[in-house]
Amino acid sequence: MSEPRPEIRRTGLGVSPGISFGRAYLIGRDTLKAPRHHIEPDDVDTELARLHKAIALSDKQLAKIKEKLASENESDYHIITAHQMMLHDEHLVGAAVEYIKENSINAEWGLRRAVDDIRAVFDSIEDPYLRERKSDVEFVFERVLRNLLGRETGPLAPPPDAVVVAYDLSPADTAQLHKAAVSGLITDAGGKTSHTAIIARAHEIPAVVGLEDITEVVETDDFLVIDGATGVVIVNPSAATVAEYREEQRRQVAAGMHLHSMKDLPARLRDGVDIQLLANIDGPDEIDAALDYGAVGIGLYRTEYLYMTGEALPDEEKHYQTTLKLLEKMKGRPATIRTFDLGADKLAKFVEEADLDEANPALGLRSVRLCLNDIGRELFRAQLRGLLRASAHGPIKLMFPMISGISELRAVKAIVDDIKIELRTKGQDFDEQIKLGIMIEMPSAALTADLLSRECDFFSIGTNDLIQYTMAVDRVNEYVSYLYEPLHPSILRLVGMVAEAARAANIPVTVCGEMAGEPMIAAVLIGLGIRELSMSAVSIPEVKDVIRQMAVADAERLITKVKTVSTAAEVRAIVSAYMFAISAPPKKPS
Ligand code: PEP
Ligand code: MG
Repeated sequence: MSEPRPEIRRTGLGVSPGISFGRAYLIGRDTLKAPRHHIEPDDVDTELARLHKAIALSDKQLAKIKEKLASENESDYHIITAHQMMLHDEHLVGAAVEYIKENSINAEWGLRRAVDDIRAVFDSIEDPYLRERKSDVEFVFERVLRNLLGRETGPLAPPPDAVVVAYDLSPADTAQLHKAAVSGLITDAGGKTSHTAIIARAHEIPAVVGLEDITEVVETDDFLVIDGATGVVIVNPSAATVAEYREEQRRQVAAGMHLHSMKDLPARLRDGVDIQLLANIDGPDEIDAALDYGAVGIGLYRTEYLYMTGEALPDEEKHYQTTLKLLEKMKGRPATIRTFDLGADKLAKFVEEADLDEANPALGLRSVRLCLNDIGRELFRAQLRGLLRASAHGPIKLMFPMISGISELRAVKAIVDDIKIELRTKGQDFDEQIKLGIMIEMPSAALTADLLSRECDFFSIGTNDLIQYTMAVDRVNEYVSYLYEPLHPSILRLVGMVAEAARAANIPVTVCGEMAGEPMIAAVLIGLGIRELSMSAVSIPEVKDVIRQMAVADAERLITKVKTVSTAAEVRAIVSAYMFAISAPPKKPS
């Protein structure tokens, strides 16, 4: 009898939580090599025709995959659209054509050289998100190469409940695997923002990426346990390990059920005060899930996605139709729509084409500044027209990002007034009472919140940027991420000031940055006077669970204590002790 294979543990990056068990379905690292040979000058046209045919076929295959996905998940759809656009990109195809013609080489070699040039550019990029986009070029290359070589590009067909093990997965692969009901995904490559991660999270498939050499460690049919939260992968687990993880899985499922069972309960504090728990979304296709997690409304709809994907820039009609779709799904629940917040880390083609060449894009012409500038003014007006027209059909509020102070607020409101006049003249309906609010996400706005509160209808505190600009720490720079601290006393003071200004002016204030979705921080925000929290929908059940165990008076006492200390670490210690106290079972009377 052969020896049982020993248990092997590896840790990667857990990017989509959940525990799963299954047999390995190995997708070997692709061994396709691009054949290289020189051709006769007379054959150049034949090679070019082969290349164009393979591109057209690849385009068709992607269109087919997209057709199947369209109604299901908009983000997968857009990623595949981006791949189709790459198929026609001048930098890729144009360069390949040039190589074939200039060097008299075959189509595969020409394409490989064009891809290598692009890879070299990606390698030199510092931003980890953009660097990872290199894999997209590879996926596109591989598909065209397979078509050039007449090699099958049929769908992957793992058995249900398999754990897929791959070097990396293309978005098209990942989306198909979700349909095949696989139980988990693990890959050698990838980071938190890789497509495998994004799509796995959207479809709630446990996933671990960045395991480096897992495709060499695992053999097809090996039994695997993966923990998508901690990033642990166990190959050939012992009986004791399986029992341990089954227990953990049961615990997580029970916790999930407990949280889900609260879906329809109000987020009510013990003393009867209600907190509004709202969802942050990137598009109407995320609304069903948000409502399922118990969101009572949308606190932040980031409309940037409309500009970052798709072939054409969104016009008035696109905004109108997208908002109608949102209203239909919301069935009368409120939604706050943020006008486009592009620039810096949120790239759009029209901004790139403006070739701004800024030394500090985060401090440059971005967000509402673009809307007030020639580069973005017409797009902004088109968005406002579409949104205002949609406001005739349901409860939406408009929110403007990155407002630095009163002058910008007045400038934006003047444009809204102008559009309202335009619509009235054309006899087009809109909500005359539509609420206009602003994001408070820089210290200049927080420090003048009392002034701003007199001229707008609501505030939403964007703590992601507020922390970035207060601490002078780039929110996507890993070298200084240790300074990115939501519980720093400066941040708590600013949030407290904004809450106080809103209370004095009697206008609502929401926190919509990531910190709103951290249960322990939610307690602090409530203590500071915040009553509306908007977050990733998946965080809602846990935040609600904490809210239902606390009272306003406790949260205010917590803040009194927090104000006596000077560092984020000390604040964290106080808040942790508080969380422990509210979750501990009551002491028996002695
Ligand atoms: C924020 O800055 O906190 C925010 C919610 O906006 P975004 O993350 O989209 O910049
Ligand atoms: Mg922001």
